[in-house]
Amino acid sequence: MKKAVEEYILPKNFKLNWFPGHMAKTYRVLPEAMKKVDIFLEVRDSRIPISSGNCELDVLIPPNVKRFIFFNKFDLCDRNKTEKIVQKYLKESDNEQIRNAKYMFLSAKTGLNLKKIVDLVIRENNPKFKTVGTWCMVGGIPNVGKSTMINAFRTMSYDLKELETKKKATTGVHATTTRHIDFFKVNASPVIYIMDTPGIMQPKIYNPESGLKLSICGNIKEKIAGKEIICDYLLFHLNKENVLEYKKAFRLQNQVKDLSELLKHVMEQFKIQNSNHAFDFILKYFKDGRLGNITFDENIPKELIYMKKP
Ligand code: GDP
Repeated sequence: MKKAVEEYILPKNFKLNWFPGHMAKTYRVLPEAMKKVDIFLEVRDSRIPISSGNCELDVLIPPNVKRFIFFNKFDLCDRNKTEKIVQKYLKESDNEQIRNAKYMFLSAKTGLNLKKIVDLVIRENNPKFKTVGTWCMVGGIPNVGKSTMINAFRTMSYDLKELETKKKATTGVHATTTRHIDFFKVNASPVIYIMDTPGIMQPKIYNPESGLKLSICGNIKEKIAGKEIICDYLLFHLNKENVLEYKKAFRLQNQVKDLSELLKHVMEQFKIQNSNHAFDFILKYFKDGRLGNITFDENIPKELIYMKKP
């Protein structure tokens, strides 16, 4: 594939969309569930702090609901880059809710800043109905770490026994309206509930490069774009950002610019029989953080920030 030094040349007419039926279903139940929400806890991936957003949330989250944005997987990104991108993006956003959003970087896996999230919610706690408590909805695109964050909250929960009883008692009540939305209590005083929602993509991705980044980070199924172009794009970015840990990880003497060269080497070194498995191997190394910390969303033109049609 032909590439300029700084720019990745996509194949002509390359398009990438992934919107399975169950997501459309979630979009249908969310507006009703949003009615009781005080705070929306949006989770994104710190490696793609802009591309892992979902512009449909801007329409779905009512204006009276506070929005917090948590950039998860902070252990895998280039921290300085991510912080700079996020600060600029929030400051320059056209959306007031995003401009005013409280935000935090976290790693649900390592526990970094998890406790601070609960503290932030307690500090900002201002329920619609004081006797009912504060309701926080967790949402975002698939695979950003929502469940990991929620499970960490569960273990941090103050009165787990009580909430388990309560949860069992209440799920039946909500079963018809919020069939796929679960909730539990994370704090006793003030009372704070967390609602979990299934991951939702926006129905259309207008920025194909963001689609490739989402594929690399595991938010879109690899087969949609194809593993070869995902690996090619990954290698391009590792070289562009000078993140060269892959040399050690793949036992290379020198940096490689061409995917076919990398593929041949990986297959020989690790005795992998076919290219499909070799692509899986490369992507697995990336997902495990073995190819170094990287952030992808630098210099996205403003008109492409939301992946809307320019
Ligand atoms: P969800 O689809 O948004 O609920 O995402 P999951 O919670 O299922 O997480 C998707 C993958 O990301 C899992 O393999 C998690 O172990 C991993 N993961 C979640 N949070 C983190 C994190 O902070 N750091 C790292 N390295 N991995 C994470």
